[in-house]
Amino acid sequence: MGCFFNIFAIAMNGRGKLYFKYGTMGSAKTALLLTQAYNFEERGLQYLCMKPIIDNREKENVIRSRIGIERECSWIYTEMNIYEYVTQLYESSLVVKDWILIDEAQFLTEEQIDQLARIVDDYGTNVVCYGLRTDFQSHLFEGSRRLFEIADSIEEIKSTCACGRKTSINARIDAQGNIVTDGNQVEIGGDDRYVALCRSCWRNKRIESAERNALKFKSE
Ligand SMILES: [Zn+2]
Repeated sequence: MGCFFNIFAIAMNGRGKLYFKYGTMGSAKTALLLTQAYNFEERGLQYLCMKPIIDNREKENVIRSRIGIERECSWIYTEMNIYEYVTQLYESSLVVKDWILIDEAQFLTEEQIDQLARIVDDYGTNVVCYGLRTDFQSHLFEGSRRLFEIADSIEEIKSTCACGRKTSINARIDAQGNIVTDGNQVEIGGDDRYVALCRSCWRNKRIESAERNALKFKSE
């Protein structure tokens, strides 16, 4: 690490925070991230958008929301050391970012969340992670668990179930709209594969789906 850089790092030490902003699918997390990015641009702040690559067919490095806005992002690969990546970026550009915004942070590994914490502590960069709390079986994702353990600030982005309660479950559905209870933790999909529900509706829909399947089995 260069001399200039060490001094800079010490000067910035302790000023940043690690944020976790979580919500269910469809809670406009990505739109919030992009709004944040826009605000930083307006204020002339240095920021960087990042996103884990989970679909290798992905060609464009952009974060895009369903309301139509998008920003360029850097991919985070499964084995990537984010601390080293950011250090190299800072050293080569001689600019320390004020903010790093991360979409789909639930897919990061525990080690990668720890690397983000180190970026906050060493460089004073604020790191904001947007993501899901739990998977389709209502269990924590690895990245989200680590964020709950070590983030400086945790905020829920709330959205409402059809019944009026707060959503907390990202239910996976099949083509017929039945709740899927088995499968891999990560399966990419949008509104056709997932629906955000409150815990109570999730339970009722699972019972309905099980009854429908039992009925189908009988008639065959
Ligand atoms: Zn509900």
